[in-house]
Order: sequence, then C-alpha cells, then structure tokens
Amino acid sequence: MKTSIRPRLLNGQTGDPALLLTLRWQGRSLLLDLGRIDHTPAAVLLPIEAVFVSHTHMDHFMGFDQLLRLFLARETTLRLYGPAGLADCVAGKLAGYTWNLTDDYAFAIDVTEIDDTMVSWRFRASRRFEREPLGPPRPFSGEVVSDDVVTVTAAPLDHRIVSMAYAVTERTHLNVRADALEATGLQPGPWLNALKAAVRAGAGDDTPIEVAPGRHRPLAALRDALLVVTPGQKIAYAVDVLFSPANARKLVRLAEGADLFFCEAPFLEEDIEQATRRYHLTARQAGALARAAAARRLEVFHFSPRYEGRYGEIAAEAHAEFAGPEVLYAELERGGAALS
Ligand SMILES: [Zn+2]
Ligand SMILES: [Zn+2]
Repeated sequence: MKTSIRPRLLNGQTGDPALLLTLRWQGRSLLLDLGRIDHTPAAVLLPIEAVFVSHTHMDHFMGFDQLLRLFLARETTLRLYGPAGLADCVAGKLAGYTWNLTDDYAFAIDVTEIDDTMVSWRFRASRRFEREPLGPPRPFSGEVVSDDVVTVTAAPLDHRIVSMAYAVTERTHLNVRADALEATGLQPGPWLNALKAAVRAGAGDDTPIEVAPGRHRPLAALRDALLVVTPGQKIAYAVDVLFSPANARKLVRLAEGADLFFCEAPFLEEDIEQATRRYHLTARQAGALARAAAARRLEVFHFSPRYEGRYGEIAAEAHAEFAGPEVLYAELERGGAALS
C-alpha cells in the first residue's frame, strides 16, 4: 500500500520514546512523546508542528528543553497535547529560565490537556511565556485533532497516572483519474472537490452532484468511474501501560486495524511480576494486544536496559504472541467481548 506517513523512532527500540511521524508531501511532522532528542539533527526536528505526550515521566518529556531552544527564534506556534497536568509541567519548565530578551519573538506554545474536556493554554515568548487561557474547554470524545490530512485520537490508560495512547489516521486518499474524466466529457472544476467531500462524508450513492450548472449526476456513478480510493494509513502508539482489562479494552479499540502498532515492551514475560508492579507491559502482552487489535504490523520498543544483550528475545517473544493462534489472556477475552 502507499505509505505517506513515514514513522521513525528517534532513539531506536532502547532509547527514550520519541516517535517522529513525517507526513510525506506535506512538509509536516508530528512527534509522539518527547524523550531526549539531542542526537537528532535540527533539520529533522524543524518540521514538527505538534507533539503528543503520553505522560511526563522524565524519559518521555525531557526533550522539551531541546525542542524549545530549537524553536525559540522561529515565527511559529508549537502545539503540545497530553494528559491533565501537562500545562503545569510546561509552565514549570519555562519558569526555569530567564526571558527578558524575547519581547519581539513570535514563537508561542499552545498546550492542550486531554481529560473529560480538552482545555488549552498559550505560552508566548513575547509575554515571557506567561500562561494565558486559550478558548473555552471542548468536550473530549476520543478525537484530539482532525484536519485535511490526519486525525489523531487518544485513549487515557492507567500507568498509576494517566498515560495517553494515540492513533494517527490518515484520511482516505481520493485521486481523480484524468483519463476517465476526459472520457466522460465533463469539465474539471470545483465539483470534483464537492464529489470528494461527499464521498468522505459517506453520502448516499444517489446523492446528486452538480457537474455543470443545472446538471447533476449521482455520486456512485461518478465515484466508481472517476475516483481511485486508497484508504489512509493508521499508526497506533502506546507506552507505559498496565495490562489490565480496562486498559486492554481501550487500547484494542484505539489500535484496531492499525497498519503499524508501536507498543512498549519493557519486560520479558519471565518478569511479569515486576512489569505489573511498575504498571508496564511484557513483550508477550504487547503481542497479545496487537493481535487482539488486528494490527497488521507490530513494532515493540522502550526495552528495559536490564535486557542488554537479550533485546532480540523481547522482539521474538512479542512477535510469537502476535502471530500466535490463541487469546491467552482472560483480560483480552473480556475486553473483546465488551467490544463486540
Ligand atoms: Zn512512565
Ligand atoms: Zn517510560
């Protein structure tokens, strides 16, 4: 399939979590988690327009300072999303520096906390990064961002604090077949966008599309003759999660049908007690979740350094479970039953 989101773990499977998603042809990037990023060249980081933070444990957020320094003199607004408390963490970081020479800087940070509602604040360099409210709270029902290219959804999971999991889904690609259009004798025009919008909105087959003033054709006939429909790619991301029935249910729903599922696997199953005590997954649990979600590919990461020299075992355990024939965990069976 055509892949137009290019994912890259900036620190590989063993370093701090930071998953860069480059939207090809767009000149835009999204970053999932903000662990240390000091080995990544500036040119790779500059297209980042939004950062989705799972939680603010150090290994997921200490790259904030590096990104701030890189963006400070730019005329742009960086958007940050994450669980409740994120704005306090950002304010705390910003309070650690002196801002007497940034009055004419255009840079700003917009922080949105995701809870029952989504609440946003703006921190402007020109105002010494004072915290200002930004618009009224909006209800949160799973969707965090939706634009012409991608939709980002989120699920709050239990890590003894909230650890937010995310899924980034590209919109369906709709391309007009130029030769087919010519064959119909119709003139290209704004009606093609109206057709695409109607198809995206799931309008009925008989919906009339005005192809020329006063002249209509049914949606289905135009769609079938003229459009090449390519489903968008879906990438799911989950880190620092307890394997509990509630988490499994939410995560399976979020990652359902993902083309690629980036899932933490810090521990081997042999250390399941430790994993559970620390509110983390084992590799086998990661594999079971990916299979239950019917993900097409699983990429495990966030390995504990205790397994240095044995990292291959982690991936092998996760993938054996992912490819395995049975649901081994009662939690997933219960989760699955609740889903259907
Ligand atoms: Zn954590
Ligand atoms: Zn972590």
